Amino acid sequence: MDSTSIKKTLTPKELPDGNNLPFGKIFSDHMFTMDYTKGVGWHSPKILPYGPIEIDPSMMVLHYGQAVFEGLKAYKTSTGDINLFRPHKNFERMNISNSRFCIPEVDVDYCVECTKEIVRFDKDWVPSVEGTSLYIRPFIVATDTYLGVQPSDTYKFIILLSPVGSYYKEGINPVKIFVESKYVRAVKGGVGFAKSPGNYASSLKAQVEAQSKGYTQVLWLDGIEKKYIEEVGTMNVFFCLGDEVITPSLDSGSILSGITRDSTIELLKSWNIKVIERKISIDEIFEAHKNNKLHEAFGTGTAAVVSPIGELILNDKSIVINNNKTGLLSNKLYTTLTDLQYGKKEDTMGWIVKI
Ligand SMILES: *Cc1c(COP(=O)(O)O)cnc(C)c1O
Repeated sequence: MDSTSIKKTLTPKELPDGNNLPFGKIFSDHMFTMDYTKGVGWHSPKILPYGPIEIDPSMMVLHYGQAVFEGLKAYKTSTGDINLFRPHKNFERMNISNSRFCIPEVDVDYCVECTKEIVRFDKDWVPSVEGTSLYIRPFIVATDTYLGVQPSDTYKFIILLSPVGSYYKEGINPVKIFVESKYVRAVKGGVGFAKSPGNYASSLKAQVEAQSKGYTQVLWLDGIEKKYIEEVGTMNVFFCLGDEVITPSLDSGSILSGITRDSTIELLKSWNIKVIERKISIDEIFEAHKNNKLHEAFGTGTAAVVSPIGELILNDKSIVINNNKTGLLSNKLYTTLTDLQYGKKEDTMGWIVKI
């Protein structure tokens, strides 16, 4: 990026207290932006002071929701280096989401370079307190000023940076999950495999209802039979059944292909643990629990890394998993993944990209 496209803020903010970081409320001093114009392609990459962007009220994304997003983190190591975790995967997935929403493709390597550049620019915003990180939010919105329903000819791509606290302030703890049997998140042929704002807008109702009943998140079932397990809130889900680990296969097209999910599968395989991707019915899980075969259940995602599930409730029938304690495998996966991310362990998987 040439220096003419970099504008430094004239009013740098005070760095936040690393011991008291909320999720997603504090933003760094700068942001990365670039634009797309049909016939030209992606152009005008810029680093700008973080701040409001101009929005025309007829901008297409406001009316028809043509947008995609990603989420990854930068981690500070004990030697002061900054690590990204498999960032190419995020932009490869962004292109999968783009394709589904008729948004033009981005160049994966270029986007990783831009991510590095903006993080380097605001490197003081990568917090160093144990368990904290810099959350990175790349997203694309349709910007044509037009009320017709069709793909936009122009787009804006932005990367925001937000220092975030440890997900587990009081140590890794199991959560209570509500199995959703009224609402559905996604259906085959729909957009469940894409990371897009609409999926979240339509999930809020179930989340609010589950939280009002004392549950942290919902576990989604398939949209047709409401029988097969899909995922948990913003996480993919795994079950330790007997001596196998199982997770829903992605071929339904209604499940988001998590990078933490993929990393979990790779790690389990490297430990010679049998891991199987297949259809899993909710009845099978309740039955396995009855037969003392369900040893652990956990969600995986960038925000929490690994989130053990201590209780599942389906239609007033509740099961407690592993005595509501964090299982050995959940714990080992959490420690291994975070050790790799924070550079405490040698990166034998080739997952770390240094900034
Ligand atoms: C982002 C996301 C996940 C987790 O993906 P990671 O790449 O592991 O962070 C899972 N489910 C949904 C619906 C998501 O949006």
